[in-house]
Amino acid sequence: MPAFPFSESDPIRHHVPLPKSSDVVIIGGGVIGVTTALFLAKRGISVTLVEKGRIAAEQSSRNWGWIRKQGRDAAELPIVIEAIRLWTELAAECGKDIGLTQSGVTYLANSDKDMAGFDTFMKLAATYDLDTRLLDSRETSALFNGMSQKFTGAMTTPSDLRAEPWLAVPALAKLAARLGVTIIENCAARSLDLSAGRISGLCTEQGRIETSTVLVSGGAWSSLFLRNHGISIPQLAVRATVAATEPMAEIHAGAVAGADVAFRRRQDGGYTLAPSTHLLHLGPDAFRHAVKYLPALLAHPSGTRYSPTAPTGYPDSWSTPRKWTADEQSPFERMRVLNPAPEQASIEAIQRDFKRLFPQFETVRLKTRWAGMIDAMPDIVPIVDRAAAISGLFVATGMSGHGFGIGPGIGRIVADLIAGNAPGHDLTRFRLSRFSDGSRIRPGPAI
Ligand SMILES: Cc1cc2nc3c(=O)[nH]c(=O)nc-3n(C[C@H](O)[C@H](O)[C@H](O)COP(=O)(O)OP(=O)(O)OC[C@H]3O[C@@H](n4cnc5c(N)ncnc54)[C@H](O)[C@@H]3O)c2cc1C
Repeated sequence: MPAFPFSESDPIRHHVPLPKSSDVVIIGGGVIGVTTALFLAKRGISVTLVEKGRIAAEQSSRNWGWIRKQGRDAAELPIVIEAIRLWTELAAECGKDIGLTQSGVTYLANSDKDMAGFDTFMKLAATYDLDTRLLDSRETSALFNGMSQKFTGAMTTPSDLRAEPWLAVPALAKLAARLGVTIIENCAARSLDLSAGRISGLCTEQGRIETSTVLVSGGAWSSLFLRNHGISIPQLAVRATVAATEPMAEIHAGAVAGADVAFRRRQDGGYTLAPSTHLLHLGPDAFRHAVKYLPALLAHPSGTRYSPTAPTGYPDSWSTPRKWTADEQSPFERMRVLNPAPEQASIEAIQRDFKRLFPQFETVRLKTRWAGMIDAMPDIVPIVDRAAAISGLFVATGMSGHGFGIGPGIGRIVADLIAGNAPGHDLTRFRLSRFSDGSRIRPGPAI
């Protein structure tokens, strides 16, 4: 396993020649592309997955590793319930320890207003008979070893899980390859090859592959790929900083979100720590789609900070080309792995906040730190749909900060959509046309 975070200097693990043809071609080797490929292979459909950099080198290894039902949007909850069952099955099938552990998710409340904010999810949890419950101040303190601060209370779901993403998604990719999926790293998809409005192939930097069906699951790069074909989706990405501590005494076994810092126990005995804010680099898409994001920004005004420009080569950088042909180098192969620098001020803040909560630790020693670009939609729920404008094109993107946990559920659904089977869930909320058909934007819970 390469050192974390993954980068383009890591060895290429999946390298076979591009096949001449494939029933389905998947763009992107994150959790969504990988699990969709896996379920398509289980249905006997031939699949090729192309990844411009390395499997799971972007969001799917950089995330916090929370697999939660708690706090989900109503339309996502039944899917994540299925995903949790699938995680358990797939972890067993992988034959590798991916750190899958049932240790719960807890949200801390600083005020009665925060407690009242849990109401919507408590009602939903009751509908699905979840083990989610509200805790008072004393019960909240009892969840932790030596927490200094008294909270008003908390909402907790003990049955929620955690896993180590940088182990989990590469292990799922290996399983997919064992099931017959052709996976090719270091292979950017440049553009669709279209004949009379239908997909006839996909042009990659390694040549053309004949196919009638393409899935765009390119994470933060999806809108850039689709825009080159005239399909506009209001996707943006925010930069989120994360750190991992050295192993330390256990103060809680699960995952916890407070007002300033979020933390979760790791398999290596340390904690993954993260701040409660993220950074939006303002580029052409941020301005283009600003109005659509207003409801979410007004609902959570303090979560987002802004910077005037994205570094060169980022999907929404001012200098990133928006148009190219199949014969030209595309923005995707110019940046194999989107590897943003962590923000030093955020790192210092989370160390300080974590130490304030648990003063028994003299120092909070960090083992590593990193950042990731979280791709989001204006209503904080993904797009999972076929694209009406181009026959044979499917889109599963915009997982909005919670695609790791729900990943296998989305992968199973997309595989069935492609195979022509019933998806098994109501996907109306995730339709692509909701941003252009005059529908009101209804933000789901915060990223
Ligand atoms: C810091 C952070 C914390 C998070 N915490 C959690 C959490 O605790 N729980 C949770 O459920 N979710 C969490 N998330 C969100 C979660 O990680 C993402 O929603 C999920 O990983 C998205 O998966 P994906 O497959 O859609 O995209 P990605 O993992 O980003 O994968 C997309 C892949 O597509 C490739 N690609 C793009 N364009 C092309 C192209 N043209 N050709 C070939 N390849 C291409 C990219 O290189 C990339 O590898 C977090 C995210 C971050 C960054």
